[in-house]
Amino acid sequence: MSASNANIVAMPDSNKYILSSDTSPRALQDQFGRQITYLRLSVTDRCDLRCTYCMAEKMTFLPKNDVLSLEEMLTLSRAFIERGVRRIRLTGGEPLVRKNILWLIERLGHEIDAGRLDEVTLTTNGTQLPHLASKLYSAGVRRVNVSLDTLDPTRFSDITRRSKLETVLEGIEAAKAAGLKVKINTVAMRGKNEDELPDLLSWAIKNGLDLTFIETMPLGEVDGVREDDYLPLTAVMPKLESRHTLSPSNKRTGGPARYYNVDGTNRQLGIITPLTNNFCDGCNRVRVTCTGRIYMCLGQDDHIDLRAALRSNSPKRDLNNCLNKAMGLKPKGHDFAMSDGKMIGKVSRHMSQTGG
Ligand code: SAM
Repeated sequence: MSASNANIVAMPDSNKYILSSDTSPRALQDQFGRQITYLRLSVTDRCDLRCTYCMAEKMTFLPKNDVLSLEEMLTLSRAFIERGVRRIRLTGGEPLVRKNILWLIERLGHEIDAGRLDEVTLTTNGTQLPHLASKLYSAGVRRVNVSLDTLDPTRFSDITRRSKLETVLEGIEAAKAAGLKVKINTVAMRGKNEDELPDLLSWAIKNGLDLTFIETMPLGEVDGVREDDYLPLTAVMPKLESRHTLSPSNKRTGGPARYYNVDGTNRQLGIITPLTNNFCDGCNRVRVTCTGRIYMCLGQDDHIDLRAALRSNSPKRDLNNCLNKAMGLKPKGHDFAMSDGKMIGKVSRHMSQTGG
């Protein structure tokens, strides 16, 4: 057998690969023994908002030819499913501004019907939900995360550089009415929405929504100074606890969040603290950009180009080889941290490029 026909297998605790004669696809497992069962797939780098911490006002978006077609994204998704991925989250950019996105979602819904996938979810800014929520439900989506950093229209315009709060709130209502479970994601920012975080939690509880607060991360250049926005969630917790009784939950999703039950309600609060405390040990995910680059970690630059494999003469074999190689590159954790008031571990890609 030639080396090109062999699987390259990452060995635990080593960056070395051995060649195996077994060509059957196997479950994805990284060099630290973590099973990869979750794919975040960015379907576009474009967005209809310009959140100040995410993008610069003037972004240069990718030429359309560089972006994978929806058919290619389906082939890619199926390659991951064959290797044991059970959950796929579509993200971006704004996934719901990608033309014909329902085509892909419906096909992933068929994978759920066939028992090959557990769920397809989305992270969205909510602006397209008023007209798409029920179509998403019909296509097989049951949960969406909606990003919302403030309930104040002026602040919303300042943070997102667009005046669409009302549409987003309509979108959340439309999602609930369609039967979708909605979780709110809020980036906590010093001086921007800091004073509003307890109100946001109370609003979420009142509206039957779970909520996760996220520390801002040093991803890509933006117009301001990142450190100015940084708000450690350790400083926010006492303010939340003065209003609600929060009990730590055992819930683990293989992601970076830690959860609290909000006593007296059925709601949960999530906390994502990449700078004050990372929880990478149980990481179960990889990210693929809309150009087909696989990143094993949000906070690292190592990546592999799956597009070349996808467009080769033997896409199945080449994709599997790339995925094996990728497993050997997944780091133990990211390097984001604060040091002397400065963010360290910065990466040059924006979140909208990697897929949030
Ligand atoms: N457009 C969709 C949305 O708004 O949810 C999906 C993409 S967006 C990049 C995904 C998530 O990343 C959003 O919740 C956003 O707030 C978050 N995000 C973007 N840049 C971030 C940063 N530098 N630090 C922390 N979170 C960030």
